[in-house]
Amino acid sequence: MSTLVIRSQHVLIAGELCPAWIAIRDGIVAAIGVPEELGTTSDIVDFGDALIMPGLVDTHVHINEPGRTDWEGFATATRAAAAGGVTTLIEMPLNSIPATTTVEAFRTKVADAQGQLAVDVGFWGGIVPGNTSELRGLYEAGVFGFKCFLVPSGVPEFEAVGEPELREALPVLSAIGAVLLVHSELPAPVAQAQLEVRNENPRRYLTWLRSRPRSSENEAIAMLIRLSQEFDAQLHVVHLSSSDAVACLRRARVSGVKITVETCPHYLTFAAEEIEDGATELKCAPPIRERSNREELWKALLEGSIDFVATDHSPCPPEMKCRENGDFMRAWGGIASLQLSLPAVWTEAQQRGARIADIARWLSAGPARLAGLRRKGSITVGKDADLVVWNPDAEFSVDAATLYHRHKLTPYEGRRLRGVVQTTFLRGEKIYDQGEFPAQRAAGRVLRRGEA
Ligand SMILES: [Zn+2]
Repeated sequence: MSTLVIRSQHVLIAGELCPAWIAIRDGIVAAIGVPEELGTTSDIVDFGDALIMPGLVDTHVHINEPGRTDWEGFATATRAAAAGGVTTLIEMPLNSIPATTTVEAFRTKVADAQGQLAVDVGFWGGIVPGNTSELRGLYEAGVFGFKCFLVPSGVPEFEAVGEPELREALPVLSAIGAVLLVHSELPAPVAQAQLEVRNENPRRYLTWLRSRPRSSENEAIAMLIRLSQEFDAQLHVVHLSSSDAVACLRRARVSGVKITVETCPHYLTFAAEEIEDGATELKCAPPIRERSNREELWKALLEGSIDFVATDHSPCPPEMKCRENGDFMRAWGGIASLQLSLPAVWTEAQQRGARIADIARWLSAGPARLAGLRRKGSITVGKDADLVVWNPDAEFSVDAATLYHRHKLTPYEGRRLRGVVQTTFLRGEKIYDQGEFPAQRAAGRVLRRGEA
């Protein structure tokens, strides 16, 4: 097979931006060099001043197929990913029917995904009451780890677990070495808060915010730290919103507790004070909190107390967002942003002094590490040639018509963002190029743990 060489003045190699070329053979980075070493090669693609970075890895995506494909599906979600520079995503085990809580359901999902993927996709398995006996089989079949909820998930097929179920599952996970991702809100503080706001106006954002207090996150995380220690289990807090929990997590990690944490672009972008009544496109759980909380999350991310950023892309049919009456308490909780994570995070990050290397750590290397994706997450000889070529100085206004998600409702609509994705390569193949999808077939693969 022939060698493709691409080059630019700004390639992110080992945490530094430098002029470089990348030689790609059989979808793998075969060599990296400086311009002077580049002899006469037939096939050079020169990206000039554009920036070349490892393709993004998003470990928190809800695709909902099969079963709720009218919410989002493999074909639409992975095209949105490609257009956003995301080359690998790991799909959440719920919202599809069946949920990925049995080996049988995992096989169904894999079969459904085949042939539809524009980018590489792996799967998390789910932990629900009564499925402990499935966990080992799921892990051997290729899920990358597991996810559970401590509060109702929003769909009946994926029930929440409590401490008793975790005490049953964690010895198994610890024995097989699998990570557990946890939606970290405890039900008791939420139930109490919901009682307190039951007569408040459901169109007001403050009503929703008050119904999901920080204490439910803080107490859940305290419990997870305790359980991680007791069972020597690897735990991961998904979509951290309450900045109060950062100090607690930092202390635990310093003392060797195996716990990691992600936050999402929306917690780093929006602030409760700015959310208008009825703007249910901004509803998610845990909720977007105050401006001061956002700044604390940024501080934690910049200092490394938060490991990385994942989207929690979780769309639904627009009518379920209750935009007509703006009822925050009834609307589906979930924010669509898979295609926008790079510009959304970069826009805020560069105002706070972050560098491109930070962006790659938060959106590529960090999530790749969580999932154990050894072939992804950096531009390194021997790894997959997954690359995003983008312009960090160009700005654009988000236009729903240019989004490839199944449903276009997103709180980023109309927002001015910095950072335009130009071209995306998956294993050396151009899968997105300035509004076009040049790949002749669906170039993405189903990834299984151990093979990826
Ligand atoms: Zn989620």
